[in-house]
Amino acid sequence: MMRITKRALVCTCAALGCAAISFGALIFWPAPLFAYSLQAGKITVASDRPIPAVGGAHFLHDCEKLLERSPLKAERSEYRVYVTNANWRKRLFFLPHPDAWGIEYPYPLGRNAFLTGADFDTGRIVHWGYVGTPPRTLAYLCAHELTHVIADEHLGIRRYLVPQWAWEGLADYVGIAHRETFEQLRNALGDWPDDTSTRVKYGGYPRYRLLVTYFIEKKGWTVDQLLATRLTTAAATQIMKADER
Ligand SMILES: [Zn+2]
Repeated sequence: MMRITKRALVCTCAALGCAAISFGALIFWPAPLFAYSLQAGKITVASDRPIPAVGGAHFLHDCEKLLERSPLKAERSEYRVYVTNANWRKRLFFLPHPDAWGIEYPYPLGRNAFLTGADFDTGRIVHWGYVGTPPRTLAYLCAHELTHVIADEHLGIRRYLVPQWAWEGLADYVGIAHRETFEQLRNALGDWPDDTSTRVKYGGYPRYRLLVTYFIEKKGWTVDQLLATRLTTAAATQIMKADER
């Protein structure tokens, strides 16, 4: 009896190990599951549906332009973005965060960005039937997720030490096409919480972006200083508010 239980346990562990390794391999090299692709500059977009030539080219151009003005420079010669339109692909690649619009996997798997669904002709993200509106466009999401990929390759294992406000705030700072100045964003946000209506108007992480805008544009921090900070959100906010007095 004991021997059978032991064998069942070993088999279960082996099966779980195999599943985890297969999933990791798929995240690292998802290309076989995406039949269509288009490349321009440093970015290749791959999809499970045909990519319209004009809309696809606009998307790649807009995403690359956003990344070019990032304080964090892309080191690789190619970055890949995968669009998972079909429901089963969405469920598979967004397994850790089913509600996310975009995802990138952390070091050492963080090579690719995944977007939930796309309408290339309108430049909009499509998330389970919901169509995103500017400023959260398809190019915004591409630049946001690829900023995580670039930060990941820049930092390696140190990425796990970056506080969330700096990690997400930087990605939104890069992704938002029409960046407000620090004063404009601060005045627009006021004391409002980061709720849905604020996010629809000012991007995924408006308060984190405000902090990143403050430290980069007002305090003159380099991107390496930003990614090396260990300030909590509360401590960073306190420093920003103390400056306003
Ligand atoms: Zn993010």
